[in-house]
Amino acid sequence: MVVKKHVIAIDGPSGAGKTSTSKLVAGKLGYTYVDTGAMYRAIAWKSLDEGIDPSDRKSIIRMLGSMRMKVEPRNNKMRICIDGKDVTNKLRARNITQRSSVLSAIGEVRKYLVGIQRKAGAKGGVVMEGRDIGTVIFPGTPYKFFLDASIDKRAKRRFLELKEQGSGIKLARIKEDIKARDRRDSTRKVCPLTRAGDAVLIDSTNMKLKDVANCITNAIKQ
Ligand code: C5P
Repeated sequence: MVVKKHVIAIDGPSGAGKTSTSKLVAGKLGYTYVDTGAMYRAIAWKSLDEGIDPSDRKSIIRMLGSMRMKVEPRNNKMRICIDGKDVTNKLRARNITQRSSVLSAIGEVRKYLVGIQRKAGAKGGVVMEGRDIGTVIFPGTPYKFFLDASIDKRAKRRFLELKEQGSGIKLARIKEDIKARDRRDSTRKVCPLTRAGDAVLIDSTNMKLKDVANCITNAIKQ
């Protein structure tokens, strides 16, 4: 493979296809996959466990002070432990999703994760997905991609994913959730979701995710 040991930054809103695409690209390049959204979700899980309101900044900061997060990227999967407990399989629930987007607007939460995320990518050979990888975490990488898709397509993708997991949630509800998250993620004061000026924009609305992954690996090879 032409490219060795770089950081590939894949940002974009929820449902744009980041996770599936990032895993495919990591597989093709023999890179490790790092999901930064899962780190926000893990903090959300902890806040729920402790009964802390995700918008209660002071309590969240106090919680971070006594919390230990361990991230173990392994090929296509990434495990997250909070205070020694593996919480990886507890992070996709709807209440965790909404919480993570609320507390991701707290500057101290972002600061807490910057170090963990930079460390996860420090040796390179990593495909990292999130909202601010190309703008804040690894702004120096030349391999930046911003995935987007229509709101209807993003909602449909999330609907099918949740349906497969046995959820009966309605498509309209998912669409409203995604819109609310989009609003919060792109209007927050700290590190809002935005495309880095030099990121390659890919609209995946009418694309198969394997074609999106090919598009990314081809761009990297060039
Ligand atoms: O990507 P995912 O949907 O798992 O992310 C959950 C939430 O975490 C997002 O809605 C966003 O608020 C936050 N997030 C973020 N910055 C990242 C990754 C995720 O603010 N790099």
